[in-house]
Amino acid sequence: MPDFYSNFRELQLHEREGRDYQIKVSQKWHRVLVIAPHGGKIEYYTSHIAKWLAGEDFAWYSFEGINDGDNRLLHITSHKFDEPIVLRALQEAQTVLTIHGQKNALDEFLMIGGLDSSFGTELRVALQHCSFIVKESEKGYRGEMATNICNRGCTGKGVQLEISFALRKKIFEDLECRFRFINTIRSRIKARDQFGSTSIDNEN
Ligand SMILES: [Zn+2]
Repeated sequence: MPDFYSNFRELQLHEREGRDYQIKVSQKWHRVLVIAPHGGKIEYYTSHIAKWLAGEDFAWYSFEGINDGDNRLLHITSHKFDEPIVLRALQEAQTVLTIHGQKNALDEFLMIGGLDSSFGTELRVALQHCSFIVKESEKGYRGEMATNICNRGCTGKGVQLEISFALRKKIFEDLECRFRFINTIRSRIKARDQFGSTSIDNEN
């Protein structure tokens, strides 16, 4: 289905904050930012997963559909998602991870996209090592456009995860699976963030 709104301003003219959508953010910003641009009822469980991944130490942002009708209308495609709060937060973000929902309700898998292919590969290897199924990104799910929200941090490249509905539901309901999924990704982010801050210090 093509998007109903082509940018945030257009959406804002027709949808009401607090009734149709809400924007939730972590208390503090951080150079690691986890984003659910299609959260709430738009792509179920992606808001939860983004918050769990950020935990207490990283920043998160969640744009959530909350109306009683068709929340698909609130889906602004990733390379057009231009809500101002997240764009500001992205100016300070070194590591950007966006969380999306793929609709397959039978098979538990994810696809990894975005321009940061080295971080994407690290995540793929780590997740596969922990028994998650990582599929080759299908066309349209690769997140390779420069304006894709995952690529708009200060490095110009980030990672997006497209998680099947079946796997999202499992992560939500099964604590063992949730722990394994969240911790695998968080430990990769931490390793990377440490390395990143060290190299910044070295330049001073
Ligand atoms: Zn999405």
